[in-house]
Formats: sequence, C-alpha cells, structure tokens
Amino acid sequence: MRTSKHELARIHQGLTRAACEVPYYPRWDGYIASERDAKRDPTPVPAGLFARLVRYARSLGYPVHVRHTSDELGALGHTLVGRGGVIDIAADMNEAARCRVLIHEIGHALTRGYLTHIGGDRFEEVAVESSSAIVCGTLGISNGVFATRFCAVQSRQDPYMMAAAQPFAVELAQVILKGIGHEVTA
Ligand SMILES: [Zn+2]
Repeated sequence: MRTSKHELARIHQGLTRAACEVPYYPRWDGYIASERDAKRDPTPVPAGLFARLVRYARSLGYPVHVRHTSDELGALGHTLVGRGGVIDIAADMNEAARCRVLIHEIGHALTRGYLTHIGGDRFEEVAVESSSAIVCGTLGISNGVFATRFCAVQSRQDPYMMAAAQPFAVELAQVILKGIGHEVTA
C-alpha cells in the first residue's frame, strides 16, 4: 500500500478542524479519553501491525513491553523513560489503542526532545499525537476521539499551534510509515 504526502497533510487538516472546533470542556484531558477508548474501541487493526511497530521501536533503541494495567501506568497506558528507555504498553488496552499509543511514543523517541526545545512540552505533544493520528488514519485505524481531545487540550484549541505542528507531524508520520514498510509518495 502507498499513500501520498498530500493525503497525510489532509488527515492533519481534518484533525485540526476537529480539535479547534470541538466544544471544549476543561475537565477533558487525554487521559480520560484514552481510558474510555482503550476499553471500547473495537476497530480492527491490520494483521501484524503491532509487532511491526514493536520491531521498529526496538530498532530505534526502545524495547517495548506489554505489561501492567492502565491504572498502574496512568490511564494513558504507557510511559517512555528517557532516551534509550523502555516503552511500557498497558496489557489491558485493546490492539487499536496499543498501536495508537506506541506510535505516539515512537514520535517522542524519534524527535529526541527537539520539538520541546523549539516549541515547548505542549507543542511536542501536539506534534507527536498529530503524527499518531495521521499514521492511524492512513492505516484505517480509528483514533477514536482521543487525538481530537488530546490536541484540543494540549494546543488550547489554538489553530496556529496546530498549523505550526503540521509539517513536523507529517514528516514524523512519513518516517514512521516508512519504518513499518508503508510507502509514502511525494
Ligand atoms: Zn506524549
């Protein structure tokens, strides 16, 4: 399968609209959305995708462990411990949610703090979650409401932050897709 870079940007434009226009509740955070999605989202996942993501993360120096529960890890269901650290994926999340959070963490692993350096913590979170939403959208995996709410909260629904994150998110998504054997054309 192959996808054009233009299509990746188009997915991000949809995410930007949704994140900036969704009615905002201060109570929301990504954690709440993630926990609900993890238990409910029945989206089928392409065969072997999680294993390919795990192999790719390992090739970057990040071993992945599926262990613990989302309560133990925090509702987001994963944690990334520094450079050369370990990615923990909560064992009680379904396959789609596991793929989604692993792609997010791979985004952090690939950027090595650069996005925080140039734009701050929230900018990095917006960019890596956007890249996860783009990869999931490309592969036909539902990101549920997670990416929308997460980006709404982290960007404070700022369309300029979303727009500034787009080139990084598209580039990251392209790198991750190539890393798992999905062709992206110009
Ligand atoms: Zn993150």
